[in-house]
Amino acid sequence: MASIKLEGSCRCGAVSFKVDSNTPYPYQLCYCTICCKTSSGGGYAINIMGLNATLEVAGADHLAQWRAQLETPDGSGGVKLETSPGARHFCDRCGAMLWVSDPRWPQWVWPFASAIDTELPSASEKVHLMLKYKAAWVPVNAGPNDQCFEEYPTESIEEWHRKRGLFIE
Ligand SMILES: [Zn+2]
Ligand SMILES: [Zn+2]
Repeated sequence: MASIKLEGSCRCGAVSFKVDSNTPYPYQLCYCTICCKTSSGGGYAINIMGLNATLEVAGADHLAQWRAQLETPDGSGGVKLETSPGARHFCDRCGAMLWVSDPRWPQWVWPFASAIDTELPSASEKVHLMLKYKAAWVPVNAGPNDQCFEEYPTESIEEWHRKRGLFIE
């Protein structure tokens, strides 16, 4: 499968990485509290998707990871905290968010667009997700072709790219 090679790094340079991607368009803006708090002063984060088997990391000594605690129903009308399987990987020196991995989908890795140094293609339409959790002060600058979702979008990242002829074969 052909793809494009993306290069990324943290801000201080301690960690850099390369990953192949078929789905490099940064179109998906996530406004959840985790993204808002951990990776973006603007209120959302953008992740693209790469092929985990191709991920090469330099400076892995400086990698740290964090799994969020999520409130989930406890079965008796209350909520309990559960640790998300998804792990956010970041630089332990400068704190830059680098990528998300999740053992439920081991074939993929989700780099933060903010960590990518390769020039990414610009998405002419965007998806705004997790709007239910958006901070009140954050504006949603949705264009006429954008889609907005209270929680998860209906199309996967791969489907979104394929339907628009943007999937890199
Ligand atoms: Zn760093
Ligand atoms: Zn999020």
